[in-house]
Amino acid sequence: MKNVFKLSIILLVLAFASCKDNKTETKSEVNSEKTADNQLYSCPMHPKVTGAKGEACSVCGMSLSEPVVEAKPVVEAVKEVEIIKSNSSFSIDPILDNYLKLKNALTKDDSKGAAEAGKELYATLKNSNSDKIEANIKKTYADITDDAKEHAEHIGDNAGKIDHQREHFAMLSKDVNDLIKIFGTDKKIYKDYCPMYDQGKSGYWISEVKDIKNPYYGSEMLTCGGITKEW
Ligand SMILES: [Zn+2]
Ligand SMILES: [Zn+2]
Repeated sequence: MKNVFKLSIILLVLAFASCKDNKTETKSEVNSEKTADNQLYSCPMHPKVTGAKGEACSVCGMSLSEPVVEAKPVVEAVKEVEIIKSNSSFSIDPILDNYLKLKNALTKDDSKGAAEAGKELYATLKNSNSDKIEANIKKTYADITDDAKEHAEHIGDNAGKIDHQREHFAMLSKDVNDLIKIFGTDKKIYKDYCPMYDQGKSGYWISEVKDIKNPYYGSEMLTCGGITKEW
């Protein structure tokens, strides 16, 4: 057991609140049963008092008339996943190569190139053979790559919508980071971070170059960010 490093990580299963264009997202367990019929309304004076439209506020008696806008469900579920380092000969390098190509397209504000790389990444993930991976790691690998596939697919389908591609890229970068933690790589790579993106919450990316080239902002702020880790 001494070669086995156990790191506990939190796998955020993210709901893509901003994309309503993909049916695969509706099968996630978001509370999507909130249809027009059970839209909540609040009191104009007491926003915490909610109920059906027209009901009287329990505090002041005014009728509930303000539609309650729910905060976007960014974090859908938080699942503890155990990351165990693999000793198998499985290589994530083909995945990493496609990811880096995608990242480089985003640094150049090249939405079409990012879409092409996203499609290649999707195919690589889909065709990668996990036979060599140890039985106790296969499930984690499948969970991470299933998530990564969705992000790669969206990036591939959204040429011309670079902001949307970048949202998926942030989540994809987390998956790639997890794969590196499990399988390692012979490549010299860096984990970079942009404090501007998403209010500092998710602006990580993996890079093969030491210089900062920011895929979240491209030419707008190409050198914003820093290295947080290197392998
Ligand atoms: Zn999307
Ligand atoms: Zn009231």
